[in-house]
Amino acid sequence: MSYKLFIPGPIAVSDKTYKAMATPIFGHRSKDFTALVEDCMPRLKQLFYTKDPVYLSTSSSWGIMEGAIRNVVNKRVLNCCNGSFSDKWFDVSKRCGKEADALTFEWGKPVDPEALDKALSSGKYDAVTIIHNETSTGTMSDISALMEVLRKYEDVISIVDTVSSFSALPIKKDELGIDVMVTGCQKALAIPPGLSFLAVSQRALDRSAKTEGRGYYFDFLEFQKNMEKSMTPSTPVIPLIFALRSKLDDIFEEGIENRYARHRANNKLVREWAYAKGIELFPEEKYGSVTLNCFKNNIGIDLPKLLDELKRRFKMVFDGGYGKLKGQTFRISNMGDETPETMGELLANIDAILPEFIK
Ligand SMILES: *Cc1c(COP(=O)(O)O)cnc(C)c1O
Repeated sequence: MSYKLFIPGPIAVSDKTYKAMATPIFGHRSKDFTALVEDCMPRLKQLFYTKDPVYLSTSSSWGIMEGAIRNVVNKRVLNCCNGSFSDKWFDVSKRCGKEADALTFEWGKPVDPEALDKALSSGKYDAVTIIHNETSTGTMSDISALMEVLRKYEDVISIVDTVSSFSALPIKKDELGIDVMVTGCQKALAIPPGLSFLAVSQRALDRSAKTEGRGYYFDFLEFQKNMEKSMTPSTPVIPLIFALRSKLDDIFEEGIENRYARHRANNKLVREWAYAKGIELFPEEKYGSVTLNCFKNNIGIDLPKLLDELKRRFKMVFDGGYGKLKGQTFRISNMGDETPETMGELLANIDAILPEFIK
């Protein structure tokens, strides 16, 4: 049983990547391991547009999203909430025992820079979390405008989740002034899940040094100490680091600008396909994600039945809505290795059966 995944993560993994994962492993304190990390690091930093170290974490993204909270929040964190993942981050902050407030926007709306500015001007906060691309609603906030606000607040550490946008469009960490930029491997990087990445500024490391209760596994200072030797604090998921190296080869062979353009083109293709049927985008168009489209189910598709049939007949899967939007929306990912041809194949397959499933 194998299906082609067009859900917004995990996404389809190439045979080349799977093969890379079968490379025989070595010890994580060996020269072979440090050479592997050193092979990846310059290119990974280039994708982050940063001079800061990039740490490798053997966890899904939530590990380091929680870890970032534990490392930098001393006073009070402001969690910007506009969808399922960002709402959850607020919950996670409280579960970590931190003082936290939610800056809430309707699902499908972006994080508003003015509202952020107003909240921060209270002086109550020493950290902020923002999700660049809210995968649950396919909404992309204007990270440049948000970071422009954050740069005014020197004592506020910014934690930005780029889990479902990283490597599909440029997010220039250093230029924007993002302190902690977090991403995962199973979204646009098209690697099987289990590895995540975070680039951390000196400011954030300094904050971390003054923060109690960081724990061990996600401690920034442990990551830093080990990364100075091109190592990780504990035994990492080495097969996924082989997959990362292979994927970096792919990305730089294609060219990053070409990769960005391909994501834009694939995204537009899907959007136009839907518009031609009268299907509306869930977020306002200019905040629509470039890595997935979240559409309203405004033409009455019986999504569960359509999805079953698509899987049975064509071995393909897209998503029938996340959390409270299940059934009311659907999401089609165009992240990773997809081309206009592979996206076209999915859309043609949907077209072949769609009339049967409109109520
Ligand atoms: C998928 C996703 C996460 C969670 O990632 P895990 O790897 O499942 O922990 C967090 N944030 C965003 C925006 C995501 O798309």
